[in-house]
Amino acid sequence: MKPAQFDYVRPQSAAEAVRALAESDDCKVLAGGQSLVPLMNFRLAQPPLLVDINRLTELAGITEVDGALRIGAMTRTRRLETSALVTERIPVLAAAAHWVGHVQIRNRGTVGGSIAHGDPSAELPAMCVLLDAEMILVSSGGTRAVSAGDFFEGFLTTVVEPDELLTEVHIPIPAAGAVWGFSEYAQRAGDFALAGVGCVVDRHAGTAGLVAFGPSERPMRCPSAEEILRVDGLSLDRVSDVADAATADVVAATEAVDAEAVHRVATVRAMARKAVEQAVRMTGEQR
Ligand SMILES: Cc1cc2nc3c(=O)[nH]c(=O)nc-3n(C[C@H](O)[C@H](O)[C@H](O)COP(=O)(O)OP(=O)(O)OC[C@H]3O[C@@H](n4cnc5c(N)ncnc54)[C@H](O)[C@@H]3O)c2cc1C
Repeated sequence: MKPAQFDYVRPQSAAEAVRALAESDDCKVLAGGQSLVPLMNFRLAQPPLLVDINRLTELAGITEVDGALRIGAMTRTRRLETSALVTERIPVLAAAAHWVGHVQIRNRGTVGGSIAHGDPSAELPAMCVLLDAEMILVSSGGTRAVSAGDFFEGFLTTVVEPDELLTEVHIPIPAAGAVWGFSEYAQRAGDFALAGVGCVVDRHAGTAGLVAFGPSERPMRCPSAEEILRVDGLSLDRVSDVADAATADVVAATEAVDAEAVHRVATVRAMARKAVEQAVRMTGEQR
């Protein structure tokens, strides 16, 4: 498989990359290439110009600023997974990053690439939705911040315009006492998830988030499940109710008409159970 012919530029700064994006219609940013290059090889994408941002070290790195982690778009997924700062401040994010493909893919693939690509079975977009992340998009027309809830529009579709560069992601740090869970099922190690669930519960503040990914066209919060966690609290006695509520939320938001879709929805129930049980165990409750 070979891609169609394309032009290639390798800017030396983010500003230069933004200029290159503004000058060509339909060009594509090349980050880790782990999704874009296969699409080009199958000729499902035929961009006339690639803007390679791999040399832009200014876009890589993880820092803590004002109660949030600022993660540069060119931060490799492996760095996210192994970062002591992420593991300490937002452990559910490091745990989810571990499930992205194989280690070779995590070594090349980037946080920004995964988010801009917007695969409904991808872990990092789901974590952005769970944690109320904000994406920073820069174009020749200016800079805008988009909340994760508005960012993912549908299957492989986000709000990123062809002339926009995703430069960084801001992810609020949950309170120190918050507990979390993450679980996903894939048919083989390294495959995209059939379905997965992540949750974060702050019992002191009375807040709870639960996201399901895989069955719908974009990662989705599950409001009925979140309400049980928020109102009744975390308890092993309520795990089944939370899992049922998450399943009902997903069914309401999707049209599970074929066998695979039904299988994905059933997998959400099992993954919700596991993720919520993990969070309950962090509270010290045992049976
Ligand atoms: C075998 C295999 C298994 C995989 N398994 C998983 C998995 O289990 N979970 C998972 O989440 N992913 C998986 N992936 C995908 C992988 O995580 C990719 O790395 C990721 O989806 C894209 O990141 P990238 O840096 O490689 O982006 P690229 O492939 O370079 O780009 C992807 C898209 O995003 C755009 N883009 C990239 N960066 C920016 C930016 N900064 N601003 C604007 N647009 C940008 C590109 O133009 C392109 O359209 C797998 C890939 C393979 C090959």
